[in-house]
Amino acid sequence: MDSDKKARHNDRMARKKAVVDAAIERAQTERGVVIVITGNGKGKSTSGFGTLFRALGHGQNVGVVQFIKGTQATGEVIFLQQCALPSVQYFAMATGFTWNTQNWDADKQAADEAWSHASALLADPAVDLVLLDELTYMLKYHFLDEAQVLDAIAARPEGQTVVITGRAAQPALRELADTVSEIAAEKHAFKGGIKARAGVDF
Ligand code: ATP
Ligand code: MG
Repeated sequence: MDSDKKARHNDRMARKKAVVDAAIERAQTERGVVIVITGNGKGKSTSGFGTLFRALGHGQNVGVVQFIKGTQATGEVIFLQQCALPSVQYFAMATGFTWNTQNWDADKQAADEAWSHASALLADPAVDLVLLDELTYMLKYHFLDEAQVLDAIAARPEGQTVVITGRAAQPALRELADTVSEIAAEKHAFKGGIKARAGVDF
């Protein structure tokens, strides 16, 4: 690279550093956050569990409620169960809501029971991170009351972080969140005929 180019590059980097430093200086509030991972692309639940493992690495206490259980146990849940860590509380919705379910009453009861675990986690100051996996579907199909869910999240202990996953996050949930990531489905292997793989898709 000629010296002119190098000088321009260094100049650009210095300006970028000033912007980043100023942003770091501005961010001084310390509290738990609400993170919503939504959209049609792959990577929502794995992101939620990735954040959970990140918290565990720092010795934090975490809780998970899965509002939809697939037919196959996912690797992250199998691994958590194998670890049997006292710092992890895990609950899955009993019946496992499915797309072709016809039993509103059974699903409603299962959703209420799962929510009772979620609301206990959201009220516990000893829990640093709560993952509510696939929560958006419970709101979409009105198995849970949106206002009640939002109130419980808003009233959580100050230091507690909540991660919510699921497609089509409700506007009020996005509004309440501090961080919202919309994962777009640009491509997915399944549409190319590749069978769901252990360790990748479940
Ligand atoms: P993951 O658990 O892999 O992070 P996700 O939580 O973003 O995925 P879900 O809608 O919960 O997505 O569906 C989970 C399963 O569906 C996974 O097997 C995933 O590979 C698959 N999947 C996710 N997005 C798509 C898509 N756009 N097209 C096809 N299959 C998808
Ligand atoms: Mg998911």
